[in-house]
Amino acid sequence: MKMMNEKRALFLDRDGVINQQLPGDYVARWDQFKWIDGTLEALQYLQNRFSPIVIVTNQQGISKGLMDAYALHLLHYQMRKKLSQEGVNIDAIYFCPFPAHQNPTCRKPNTGMAQQAKADFPSIDFESAVMVGDSDSDMEFGKALGMYTVKIQPNITTSSPHADVRVESLIQWVNRLRTPATNPGSRPG
Ligand SMILES: [Mg+2]
Repeated sequence: MKMMNEKRALFLDRDGVINQQLPGDYVARWDQFKWIDGTLEALQYLQNRFSPIVIVTNQQGISKGLMDAYALHLLHYQMRKKLSQEGVNIDAIYFCPFPAHQNPTCRKPNTGMAQQAKADFPSIDFESAVMVGDSDSDMEFGKALGMYTVKIQPNITTSSPHADVRVESLIQWVNRLRTPATNPGSRPG
């Protein structure tokens, strides 16, 4: 159980949550990295409410030779530099470079990246944590750990059995958190 003064952990997927997906391609360079509208403002709010904030991202493009780990680290450096200019600190970024067909423990929906985060941040309590992602594997990852799950769906048309709440963007979820009295989708409070 979390004490009242302890903050919940926040797990964020990257592509489709923080930056726009590149259809059929991997985001491998900074000039391919496009922030989703409202993300910086959303993170500014979220960092006052959650701790730690970590990114968990499947990046099998590395094992496919479409991008190298150095390029990914460079991209994340540039992303964090911009975030820090906006006053936002991401506590850690975990990525899984291995291909889906190997079913590696680090690849979502497997929970290896969460276990790694827990090793780095022992205060993390999965049961009170939140997972935000745009794919069902993100929701399965969160549910497997008992997290509250938020699904980003720019066009909410299909159902998502694993998600506790569905929103169109990170900033839309934040706007719900800001106005808890008026919206039933605002948990956790
Ligand atoms: Mg995604």
